[in-house]
Amino acid sequence: MKVNNTDFNKTNVGEIVTLNGWVSKKRDLGGLIFIDLRDRSGIIQLAINPESPAYGTALKLKNEFVVKIIGEIVLRENANDNLKTGEIEVNVTDIEILNESSELPFDLNNMTALEDTRLKYRYLDLRRSELKDKIVLKHKIMQGAREFLNKNDFLEIETPILCKSTPEGARDYLVPSRVNKGSFYALPQSPQLFKQLLMMSGFERYYQIARCFRDEDLRADRQPEFTQIDMEMSFVSEEDVMNLTEGLLAHICKVSKGMDIKTPFVRMSYNEAIGLYGSDKPDTRFDMKINDITEGFKNTDFTVFKDVISGGGIINAIVVKNGADGYSRKDIDKLTEFVKTYKANALAFLKYNGEFTGSIAKFVDEKAGNYLKENLNLEDNDLILIIAGDYKMVKTSLGALRLKLGKDLDLIPKDKFNFLWVTDFPMFEYSEEEGRFVSCHHPFTHPADVDNLSDKENALARAYDIVLNGYEIGGGSIRIHDPKVQEKVLEALEFSKEDAYDKFGFLLDALTFGAPPHGGLALGLERLTMILAGTDNIRDVIAFPKTTSASCLMTEAPNEVSAKQLDELHIGLK
Ligand code: ASP
Repeated sequence: MKVNNTDFNKTNVGEIVTLNGWVSKKRDLGGLIFIDLRDRSGIIQLAINPESPAYGTALKLKNEFVVKIIGEIVLRENANDNLKTGEIEVNVTDIEILNESSELPFDLNNMTALEDTRLKYRYLDLRRSELKDKIVLKHKIMQGAREFLNKNDFLEIETPILCKSTPEGARDYLVPSRVNKGSFYALPQSPQLFKQLLMMSGFERYYQIARCFRDEDLRADRQPEFTQIDMEMSFVSEEDVMNLTEGLLAHICKVSKGMDIKTPFVRMSYNEAIGLYGSDKPDTRFDMKINDITEGFKNTDFTVFKDVISGGGIINAIVVKNGADGYSRKDIDKLTEFVKTYKANALAFLKYNGEFTGSIAKFVDEKAGNYLKENLNLEDNDLILIIAGDYKMVKTSLGALRLKLGKDLDLIPKDKFNFLWVTDFPMFEYSEEEGRFVSCHHPFTHPADVDNLSDKENALARAYDIVLNGYEIGGGSIRIHDPKVQEKVLEALEFSKEDAYDKFGFLLDALTFGAPPHGGLALGLERLTMILAGTDNIRDVIAFPKTTSASCLMTEAPNEVSAKQLDELHIGLK
């Protein structure tokens, strides 16, 4: 069995070794030839001098040829501290070319190629350590998860990929059934109902590293297929699930990055998260919280603010510390354009320097000024950015502005990993698209107060999300196990009985046969890996990813299929 080439070091000097690998780089010094030989573990330097019987073959080698070499490990004249094997090299006496390589579509040592080209030749791009290391990290995370969950008495159980469409909220990928004409399977958006059914089967603790599929518009942190570390437990409270998840994440960080993380994680209610950060997945690595300054303007003459307050709206601000002289009128115009994409009408600003200047300075009388100084802890040269309007718009737009400023001003420490629980989520959210309230999590989430579901705007759920550095890396809930409660929730969601039975009657039935109380959580494996790997491109942590238009540039999926295939599936194209 081959060992890693980079396992050798100066303790092996004098040993004759046989190594396999790829020619990563070749330097011909007009006599002496040096080769960086690459295997999965990294690089080891080969030296071939003109007296070596391998010299003739070495002359023929080009980048990415696959070779087997025999040689003696010797100390290097000039050690390279950047390489694990930097103190040694191999004096080669024999080279066998195992395979040649055609001219490469891009230089693997110089990453200037477009991402599309690299995706087309993904198998070549994966040879680069920058990418390979991320795939290795993901492996360690998965193994760490398995280790921890096995030790904690969980069972790894698979659930089907060809499923029935379940109401998870996103659009399904459908698979036509050849045998059942006109019928379709749906690919699972998550194993949600199956894992609940496993609790009803008495397995008590389940996990799965589960592939999930959602036909959604894609973003930098989203792929059509992704992986969850999916868990479910019987006889548990929120506390139990959260403690277990903290232990799991601590173990994962330790085994994958050698990193110790502090538990328990900070907890914040959903309302607090929206109030202070304008987001249900706040990035708490930097401060710049959102401040409610409505009170300070309650007697204002400024008609815009006056109208907002009388209409039940709010006035909120964020403070850019020491930012006043760094932002010109033009810069602030740009920020205004930015917040307009979040439906803000305007961005008012004040600069503080003992007194106030700026777009609304003339409306800051002494009382309002004192209020601002005190409540915003103002110091000279602070910049105050203000948005007024309805609650949701104000919070969302200032939340987005906060993140933009955090990035623009380089306020976000790169080496920090801030885990955070967001709890007390709303049970329902209003969907403009559907014109009704829908589940904020999913319809199987236990309400906080079973008897208070009619106040849909304020009803809370026993749901929790885990957030890392501004990304939602997972979420879960305590589930409904009482069929009467499930009925009430479905009623609140305006599901007719027939519709509910048609879609997931099997679950509603199962609830009537002694379903245990249960709850769980799923972690997004790719997002977690992406953050731990220090990239913001989810494709980097997937061996064969898709583009943002959901296609694979290497295999050219999705593709058209033959008329015969369509025929067999009883499908005619429009
Ligand atoms: N199935 C849920 C999801 O994919 C996670 C959970 O509730 O456990 O978001």
